[in-house]
Amino acid sequence: MSTKHHHHHHEMHEGEALASAAQDRLTEQGEQWTAMRAAVFDALAGFDKPASAYDIAEAVSKTEGRRVAANSVYRILDLFVGANLARRVESANAYVANAHPDCLHDCIFLICDSCGHTVHIDDDTLSGGVRAAAEHAGFSAPRPVIEVRGRCGDCDPA
Ligand SMILES: [Zn+2]
Ligand SMILES: [Zn+2]
Ligand SMILES: [Zn+2]
Repeated sequence: MSTKHHHHHHEMHEGEALASAAQDRLTEQGEQWTAMRAAVFDALAGFDKPASAYDIAEAVSKTEGRRVAANSVYRILDLFVGANLARRVESANAYVANAHPDCLHDCIFLICDSCGHTVHIDDDTLSGGVRAAAEHAGFSAPRPVIEVRGRCGDCDPA
């Protein structure tokens, strides 16, 4: 999360590779990759914009062919966020799968006001500046939440 992360091997995963990286990361932390957790992760990763626990519960209910409560999805999302498998997009009040479960960053999200499409970028120099400014103002253990709203290239082609 600071400049010391600059030279690590930053790997962004998708699809099967992302699910398997997420599974490795969770099991390394002593947690089980249950069928339910796998289904929630698949549903989350299948959304192209931030998804709420309700969105995911609906998707999982469909694929599993049984009613899955938003509450149990919410608990799993909470576990995923703590384990770096998912990130919460605060201004959308929803979650995205973390494409880099193996490394920690203050992820920066760009969210389209029009279609909800969300782009995830990592710029430790930028978030490090925010951290430093917060510390300078006397805040300890700052956790930058950097989200940019605007219109994506599809909604507003240049
Ligand atoms: Zn990284
Ligand atoms: Zn990130
Ligand atoms: Zn858009």
